[in-house]
Amino acid sequence: MSSNGNNGTNGNLPPGIKLPIYMDNHATTPTDPRVVEAMLPYFTQHFGNAASRNHQFGWEAEAAVETAREQIAKLIGATAKEIIFTSGATESDNLAIKGVAEMYREKGNHIITPVTEHKAVLDTCKRLEKYGYKVTYLPVKPDGLVDLNQLKDAFTDKTILVSIMAANNEIGVLQPVAEIGKLCRERGVLFHSDAVQALGKVPLDVNKMNLDLASLTAHKLYGPKGCGALYVRRRNPRVQISAIIDGGGHERGMRSGTLNVPGIVGFGKACEISRLEMPQESARIAALRDRLKDKLTGALDQVFINGSMEHRLPGNLNISFLYVEGESLLMGINDVAVSSGSACTSATLEPSYVLKSLGLGDDVAHSSIRFGIGRFNTEAEVDYVANRLIEVVSKLRELSPLYEMVKEGIDLSKIQWQTEGH
Ligand SMILES: *Cc1c(COP(=O)(O)O)cnc(C)c1O
Repeated sequence: MSSNGNNGTNGNLPPGIKLPIYMDNHATTPTDPRVVEAMLPYFTQHFGNAASRNHQFGWEAEAAVETAREQIAKLIGATAKEIIFTSGATESDNLAIKGVAEMYREKGNHIITPVTEHKAVLDTCKRLEKYGYKVTYLPVKPDGLVDLNQLKDAFTDKTILVSIMAANNEIGVLQPVAEIGKLCRERGVLFHSDAVQALGKVPLDVNKMNLDLASLTAHKLYGPKGCGALYVRRRNPRVQISAIIDGGGHERGMRSGTLNVPGIVGFGKACEISRLEMPQESARIAALRDRLKDKLTGALDQVFINGSMEHRLPGNLNISFLYVEGESLLMGINDVAVSSGSACTSATLEPSYVLKSLGLGDDVAHSSIRFGIGRFNTEAEVDYVANRLIEVVSKLRELSPLYEMVKEGIDLSKIQWQTEGH
């Protein structure tokens, strides 16, 4: 990619720039070298099975797992016993929602979730509909936030679970989790949150937020892939869930299977680093994000930020460039790794359902870019990316008759377009 020569500047890149540049930290993050270092002994030296109760190898592995459990719990104000290890947040979302649905079937069959959730939540809910559960898919406001009055109206006497993410993976919007938790608690309804994107980026406290279940994963906070957890509240109320994987009864019967000890050690270390560094790191990353936003909006007109700027993850910028074609836009910056408004399920070229739920048309969704700025991005990279984009968008717009008309002050909405059949 870096030798494509499409900007002709590979021989004289600005100092500190190495291509390609990674700015897709909502998809995954590089593993922090400190995390890798913590994991390494658990592949070779301390390779034991944490469930082996009668020798040193097992005890060492178990002790390491318990340390990690505490590190993870501490980042969200939980206790170690409330952390159940899984293979990642997709499994955690499935376990939370299917686990509650089965366990509380006698009590009711109604679940509430917004339309902007991750597919791991939405597709799980869709599956449950096939088995007789009723799901209310809440719309969101144009800024991406759930309307609390609409949520209040959605509760019925059959509601057993509300599942609302803490932070959105496309637009970075932070939902009012504490207020939602309060509404659920008042009604005796369990509250699950997919907290993957929020973990380690913004403060989370399961007690202040009245969270009953929360899905977490290591690889979005500089830990390894394939290692996640589900927080399951043990007191006030004691939450019970049915298992979806049966076997040796690991994780207090909620999730059988030999624990991924090196992954879990890495997950714990990643949480500890984030807990200690979050205040400074989030401020630094938010400043980089704002720098990118200011440069783009300062140099280009007809660009729009998607989702609330006020309630937002520090590293997220989701921005639409009107009057440019989405595919050409991405091709123009192919030495920068970002996601487009069409690529969340990259196999298809569907426009993003999250952007559409904010009221964006297909064209605008396609010409949108999600930036995920993270721990290892630098100011020099932000400046390089901003300049590249400004260049590419300006060039593409020179070729756009629509943009020309807008510049001349023609109101495109008042034009009667000639179409076939007229
Ligand atoms: C990445 C992500 C997931 C899936 O997590 P995995 O550990 O990759 O299965 C779920 N929810 C959100 C919001 C995510 O960003």
